[in-house]
Amino acid sequence: MFDNLSEKLDKALHTLRGHGQITEINVAETTKEVRRALLDADVNFKIAKEFTNRVKERALGQNVLTSLQPGQLMVKIVKDELTELMGGETEGIDLSGTPSVILMSGLQGSGKTTFSGKLANYLKTKKSKKPLLVACDVYRPAAIDQLHIVGEQIEVDVYYDKDNKDPVAIAKAGIAKAKAEGHNVVIIDTAGRLAVDEKMMAEISEIHNAIQPQETLFVVDAMTGQDAVNTAKAFNDVLNFDGVILTKLDGDTRGGAAISIKSVVDKPIKFIGTGEKMEAIDVFHPSRMADRILG
Ligand code: GDP
Repeated sequence: MFDNLSEKLDKALHTLRGHGQITEINVAETTKEVRRALLDADVNFKIAKEFTNRVKERALGQNVLTSLQPGQLMVKIVKDELTELMGGETEGIDLSGTPSVILMSGLQGSGKTTFSGKLANYLKTKKSKKPLLVACDVYRPAAIDQLHIVGEQIEVDVYYDKDNKDPVAIAKAGIAKAKAEGHNVVIIDTAGRLAVDEKMMAEISEIHNAIQPQETLFVVDAMTGQDAVNTAKAFNDVLNFDGVILTKLDGDTRGGAAISIKSVVDKPIKFIGTGEKMEAIDVFHPSRMADRILG
């Protein structure tokens, strides 16, 4: 991902890399290029502007002009600031509950159901947890079947009740089942819609209030560009969620909106999805992502 942005930053920094006399003017020119690259990659305007101002201030403050290797110093500053922009240190998820309840939110097609399975598989195999998946989409029977198939694939139990049309009741029954059967994590997959609407928000908010999850995660398709930021904001306004899951980072995404999400909603990106398989999940590392962006 981020090929576009990476290439552009590379181009912008090329003249500074490793050698050459640097003046205040070409620091300004370079940061302008960096800003343009960020904007082209769909990064929110205000964030791109603040970002490049910080880079410029630091570059001039740290005597890039007199440094022996000004280009490398500049690349380091851009990388540090990019890492900071995406959240600094990696954040984990709260598994302290008995059981820990994790509520998944997001639009239809964002990758919620797939990620619910990936997370269950990750917690089972990497953290020795005993998860239970709960299917709360009462509108699309296919969504329940999909979670059921995922559960079979990773050998994780799935709770569902096709006769029940009340997602709050299903979520509560799922948690009760988890307690009774010794599951220490409950992952609740909810219904999404194709766009943000009041009914979906009211429903997810009702589930959220009723079950008080340890973690509320917002799943978003990284390929949806600037819309991803707007959707994140809409869900965060209602749920005040704990973290973001960026899916489809294996795809041909410009990815710039991903950079903006953390800044706009001030919530960490916790995991990324990198494919359709159950193993295609990674903890989000801001510094690794910055490395990838800068190439
Ligand atoms: P939901 O409606 O939010 O539950 O979304 P789904 O989990 O059904 O995912 C929608 C589509 O995206 C499915 O075809 C998934 O296989 C696919 N998908 C989910 N996550 C990823 C990912 O990280 N990479 C890719 N390439 N596809 C994904």
